[in-house]
Amino acid sequence: MKCYVCAREGKDSDAVAVCIVCGMGLCMRHAVRTETEVWQGGYPFPARKRQKKIPRILCPDCNAAYEEE
Ligand SMILES: [Zn+2]
Ligand SMILES: [Zn+2]
Repeated sequence: MKCYVCAREGKDSDAVAVCIVCGMGLCMRHAVRTETEVWQGGYPFPARKRQKKIPRILCPDCNAAYEEE
């Protein structure tokens, strides 16, 4: 898979990650890795793991959308 953001800019980079929200491929430069304590989208993580932070990979667009909340 290729990085969608790079492809949009006319570049060609191999994807190393996938945005968990929209599913687009992301290269190292565009993958945004953040951690959250509670996942609000109903993703089926086991409830007993709630105390642990959950790492997630987002694309720049989705990350911006979540930070606006
Ligand atoms: Zn990229
Ligand atoms: Zn995304």
